[in-house]
Amino acid sequence: MIVAANFKMHKTRSQTQEYLNELKKIKFNGVKVALFPPASALMEDKIVGAQNAYPAINGAYTGEIGLEQLNEFNIKRVLIGHSERRHILNESQKFIAEKFNFYKNQGFEIFYCIGEPLEIRKKGIEAVVEYLKSQIEGVDLEYEKLIVAYEPVWAIGTGVSASLEEIKETHKEIRNFTSKPILYGGSVKLNNIKEIIEIENVDGVLVGSASLDVNTFKEMIKIAKDMK
Ligand code: PEP
Repeated sequence: MIVAANFKMHKTRSQTQEYLNELKKIKFNGVKVALFPPASALMEDKIVGAQNAYPAINGAYTGEIGLEQLNEFNIKRVLIGHSERRHILNESQKFIAEKFNFYKNQGFEIFYCIGEPLEIRKKGIEAVVEYLKSQIEGVDLEYEKLIVAYEPVWAIGTGVSASLEEIKETHKEIRNFTSKPILYGGSVKLNNIKEIIEIENVDGVLVGSASLDVNTFKEMIKIAKDMK
């Protein structure tokens, strides 16, 4: 079971350090825990990963960080393809696949996000599958250190997660593309995590807003521990 926290553009370095200290008070007991703080709070700790990184060692890419900056903190984990980067930062599938391949070649563990917007969901599961296929173009779905995160855009940060039926149906479809772990993300909270991780083909969760409170996130890890 995998439980991952995406802080997005929340928390400073000292707040992240405090959070980590608190988090480490519990044993993870076989649950893989990952934490994605903002770039300014990257630190050397094996659970920490980067929310984003440019596909280059270093160079003239203003505002970006690359392999050299990640290496400084011994970071070996990266999140690629998050919908906020696809839609707000306008990252193309070609660029996302470039990032994937660069960090794959560096042996990183890659949390690779896919997910459809509401207008596609409304068209039904076939349209969803077609859309998700377009988001995996150029990506090796059998990469040994790949973790796929299915995050429907309409469920992210809205407080309304996909229904258990929708998650079940979509993860089953994604399972046809990959044998690697598949996480669900999108308004996962303390009150729905248990029923979500019980669904077939759900290997864990990627949590945004609800992960910002360390006690809530600790509780989520406890629930995942009890599940394994
Ligand atoms: C996310 O952005 O990865 C996410 C799952 O956010 P939230 O839990 O806030 O919906």
